[in-house]
Amino acid sequence: MGAAGKIRRLGFRKWYERELLSSHANLVLLLLAAVGLLASAEVYTARLPVRDQLEVLLAAAASAVIGVVSLRRYLYLLNHAEYVADQAVCGSCDSYAKWDLLDEQAEGTRLAVRCRHCGHRWTIDL
Ligand SMILES: [Zn+2]
Repeated sequence: MGAAGKIRRLGFRKWYERELLSSHANLVLLLLAAVGLLASAEVYTARLPVRDQLEVLLAAAASAVIGVVSLRRYLYLLNHAEYVADQAVCGSCDSYAKWDLLDEQAEGTRLAVRCRHCGHRWTIDL
């Protein structure tokens, strides 16, 4: 389900909250991956048997991959949530996130919304 479907089901505020929680969960994963990478560097020594060296290098590589993926996911989710939140302000009365979803346009990448406060209509790009 895309962002439009989630916003329709949950409402904007819940969707935004969940996007921020999800992005910060990825930040925690990034920190854990960094700990894994540092622990691998701490444990590694050339005096270990070759099999153990390979295990430590494999753990370091896995930590690095997980760290890069979680960093990308963290930044994407956070920036996307902020991008949408910046458009959630009514241009007429400055009400934040107090709108009704009227329609999904452009295959769910644009939302037509109406302010609950003043009835102003605008679109939000996802
Ligand atoms: Zn308004």
